[in-house]
Amino acid sequence: MVLYDTRRTAHAVLTRETETEVVTVLGLEWLLGVMTDPETLSVTIIDGYVDEPAHFGVPPYVSTYPRYTAGALVDVGVPPANITYHTIDALREEPGRWQAVDEADLMIYLGGMTVPGKYVGGTPAEPDEVRKLAWTASGTSLMGGPVKFGVGETNEGATETERQDLDFDFVAKGDAEAAAYDLVESGLEGFGNRMRDVSEVTRWARKGAFIVEQHPNHPDYLICELETSRGCAYRCSFCTEPLYGNPSFRPPESVVDEVDALADCGVKHFRIGRQADILAYGGDGEAPNPDALRALYGGIREVAPDLETLHLDNMNPITVVNWPEASREGIRIIAEHNTPGDTAAFGLESADPVVQEANNLNVTAEECFQAVKIVNEEAGWRPGGEYENAPEWGADAPKRLPKLLPGINLLHGLKDEREETYELNRQFLERVYEEGLMLRRVNIRQVMAFAGTDMSETGAAIAHEHKSLFKRYKKRVREEIDNPMLKRVAPPGTVLPDVHLEYHQDGKTFGRQLGTYPLLVGIPGEHPLGRTMDIAVVDHGYRSVTGVPYPLDLNSASLSELEAIPGIGSRTAGDVMINRPYESVAEAGVDSNVELAKFATAGSRSSEQAK
Ligand code: SF4
Repeated sequence: MVLYDTRRTAHAVLTRETETEVVTVLGLEWLLGVMTDPETLSVTIIDGYVDEPAHFGVPPYVSTYPRYTAGALVDVGVPPANITYHTIDALREEPGRWQAVDEADLMIYLGGMTVPGKYVGGTPAEPDEVRKLAWTASGTSLMGGPVKFGVGETNEGATETERQDLDFDFVAKGDAEAAAYDLVESGLEGFGNRMRDVSEVTRWARKGAFIVEQHPNHPDYLICELETSRGCAYRCSFCTEPLYGNPSFRPPESVVDEVDALADCGVKHFRIGRQADILAYGGDGEAPNPDALRALYGGIREVAPDLETLHLDNMNPITVVNWPEASREGIRIIAEHNTPGDTAAFGLESADPVVQEANNLNVTAEECFQAVKIVNEEAGWRPGGEYENAPEWGADAPKRLPKLLPGINLLHGLKDEREETYELNRQFLERVYEEGLMLRRVNIRQVMAFAGTDMSETGAAIAHEHKSLFKRYKKRVREEIDNPMLKRVAPPGTVLPDVHLEYHQDGKTFGRQLGTYPLLVGIPGEHPLGRTMDIAVVDHGYRSVTGVPYPLDLNSASLSELEAIPGIGSRTAGDVMINRPYESVAEAGVDSNVELAKFATAGSRSSEQAK
């Protein structure tokens, strides 16, 4: 007689007892227990990237999702060594990495694009790739992040979306990190959909900081998105942020503690980007609280004194106009602590009162103009310049980017949009330029309609109808506004330190600084990638600049670099090359109308200053 004893959990599988043969097999509960014990659980996190109205996570950015999820896993007992993290691009580059997807006891996919754009640093996961992740995973699969709001056919604007599970075992409809915690705690049985609270995010943010060390961009070319709050006091028709409810803030200590942990893991670049409105931070949800801003920014500078980038995203212009004095103080505090080239993105969305009314937009064109002016006055000074002179531009302004400038977001395809809408938007931008103010960028998008927002009924119909109008208008804004504005913000000679060299194209090298909406810089010649270089601006496109290595050594500069200097021309550039070496810039004898000293030296340094 053979008895199967499934209660015994010893690993002996076969024992003989008198007359009766007892076979001890591995008990089902025992097996499940081993597979789900947090101590032995292996977890793979795949980052498909996120782009939300108030949260960005496409490289070089890393969003909060993988960091908090890793922290939640550690908090519930999974050893950090059992957690593998890959970006979707890392999986594409090295097919062997799919093994980690296949073999993990728990595979967590994090991603979702609710405001998709075009990206240089990475390509977000497409829905088919996300499905393939679910099919490949042999263990339990969990999907989380803004993907819960819906997915389109592809990641682009003017599309409609629907909620899909993309063949995952579980979809986190609340917070992905809370789902990961509860799922592991339940022995991979399931979880209730819930949001995490402040004490959890404080713990998880610190405990999950280590995961950034597995990011392909770590440590030098990585910027961590920081969360100060979620939710919004307003209810714009197209926006997914109100789905998080009214604003709830993380106290300064919580954010500062996270920065401390990230800095210990080698992070030097930070963006306070995960909030609807930085000026409302730590207040009643709408009005500014300068003391909270001071505690936040001051605390960050204290725990990360060596940080190289501290930028922000999202400021609501309505806060600036409704509470101008407190806002001015808040903006001054930000500009004292941030690094140059910072941008406060203003969601005007439409300058057309009809569209504003139909879509419950909260700021008029006039109000937004006043807010643009206030940010220019308080933070439009440049390092080496004077606060009193803000907004600083023109021949005498220091050759660095201003501390903080507004950006304008415009959205098309909204309810009741008409032909005049395009003209009103253009006129708004023209007025800002004509009145001597600066904008760091103008972001023009088409709407993506999500379930749960007021736009879901209208969908992408208006955006499709106005497609050709949209194209013409966008071109006009690029030519008539973006280009002259860029010349004002970053005139020839402006120095951009630490431009990361990212790719080659048409005999040029392209790169960007780390930060919020960095300028794309084209540099003549093919320089080694993956390094940084200080550059000086020599020319302007619509949203990009041409630059030469700074300072440019006349004794080693290439012909194309010399030719790129404004006013020099190919003949003079050839003469400069033939007659070198020089002891000084003056010795090169270039026409004094060409401000050569602004760009060049005559030393023995290599023009490629490896850092
Ligand atoms: S103000 Fe409007 S667009 Fe901005 S986060 Fe709030 S709801 Fe969204």
